[in-house]
Amino acid sequence: MENVYYRSTRSESTPITASQAILKGLADDGGLFVPTKLPKLDRTLNELSLMDYRGVAYEVMKLFLTDYTEEELKACIAAAYDGKFDTPDIAPIHEADGRYYLELFHGATIAFKDMALSILPHLMITAAKKNHENKEIVILTATSGDTGKAALAGFAGVAGTKIIVFYPKDGVSSIQERQMVTQKGDNTCVIGIRGNFDDAQSGVKKIFTDQAVKQRLARNGYQFSSANSINIGRLVPQIVYYVWAYTRLLKDGKLAEGDEINFVVPTGNFGNILAGYYAKQIGVPVHRLVCASNENRVLYDFFQSGEYNRNRPFILTSSPSMDILISSNLERLIYHIAGDDAGADAEYMKNLAERGDYQITDAMRRRLTDFAGGFATMDETAAEILRLYEKDGYVIDPHTAVASCVYGKYAEESGDRTKTVIVSTASPFKFETSVLKALHRYEAKDDLLLADDLSALSGVKIPQAVESLKGAEIRHKTVCDRNGMLAEVEKFLGI
Ligand SMILES: *Cc1c(COP(=O)(O)O)cnc(C)c1O
Repeated sequence: MENVYYRSTRSESTPITASQAILKGLADDGGLFVPTKLPKLDRTLNELSLMDYRGVAYEVMKLFLTDYTEEELKACIAAAYDGKFDTPDIAPIHEADGRYYLELFHGATIAFKDMALSILPHLMITAAKKNHENKEIVILTATSGDTGKAALAGFAGVAGTKIIVFYPKDGVSSIQERQMVTQKGDNTCVIGIRGNFDDAQSGVKKIFTDQAVKQRLARNGYQFSSANSINIGRLVPQIVYYVWAYTRLLKDGKLAEGDEINFVVPTGNFGNILAGYYAKQIGVPVHRLVCASNENRVLYDFFQSGEYNRNRPFILTSSPSMDILISSNLERLIYHIAGDDAGADAEYMKNLAERGDYQITDAMRRRLTDFAGGFATMDETAAEILRLYEKDGYVIDPHTAVASCVYGKYAEESGDRTKTVIVSTASPFKFETSVLKALHRYEAKDDLLLADDLSALSGVKIPQAVESLKGAEIRHKTVCDRNGMLAEVEKFLGI
């Protein structure tokens, strides 16, 4: 097997190993790490269809994380994909209304972020050992709601790490906030910011690339890393479930090997769908990746016009985890469609930072044929939740509903009849208020009591992640301004 190395999207720096890239999170020049070449699956999809989730995870991850030994990687996988998931399938597929819903919300915090964040701490600790890194790792994370809890759950109590999470104080669902502020563990810190997700993400990136802060940290025995999807240690585990979904459909006789499928992905930071793009590159027969946006439709507009323009109002929607105008991982796609050109990418990102927009070339646009874009308004999203429930008795969350609705529009407009997987990113129990309102069954009451109503309606047992919030103590109460983030980091670390 050939070694895969990682380099920055923004300069021709010396490539580093996967474990080094996982430890660093973000490149020193502010760019994201990308593989220097894309590997290919060395097993047929039929062979993979005979394996369980862990088996498929190994076959995919070994291609990208080539400096991890087989033993190391298998140990990380075994520690991640275990009883924390409420089904041995880890990511089951539910068929409804002629589509396949890939349920990625059976982990500890009932959002798809668990798929990557249950393994990232293990990959990182292993990386620290491999690289003889003895500084304590400080995970600094911005969250639009789901990454925060999934990262906290993954890193809480992990020796040699501390984790600090910033979330938009008024930009997450009440269950999401409750999940974060009740987090246990002395190495955890959760802070609300008066601002939106983009503010939180930009603030974190700024702290990350501040060389003076970095040096001060090092003197105190600390080193930053990231649990956001800018870390390739998050991206790579996300490639797995695209391969997994295909092989499940193969196993169940819904597909023959080689048949193409579409994936519709509810998108914010472009991490999940980028993993789908990489899955296609390594050999999964993907026809289209449909990028589904909510009313913050900056990506939809980009796919329509080739212009990325974040100069627009930030809208708080019923799918808060996708309320994002600066979609970090799109930078990786830009780099690839520019022909792996770091100079071109750096120029685009400079324009984005300075002016808030950039326009790609026609040649680059022609390399976007793997993608289609669509968006759904809040009304359309609610209507889709109701439609699917009335048709099939299946209750989906608002993020999944954005994708489901966008798929309906896409199929109608394009006439594309390729079998389609809707990537289902969260449990409806995480967004009970919006879901019950969409179903016209909402009554104002405590959010934890709403879970009972939703359970009765859907016939689905209340997930442990919600059950365990009942009576849980609120441990994190700090709220700060956008420019107070660094001070909070210094306070928590005592530096
Ligand atoms: C994070 C998240 C998304 C968006 O995923 P990206 O990788 O940021 O595009 C969609 N749905 C849910 C429920 C999420 O938590």
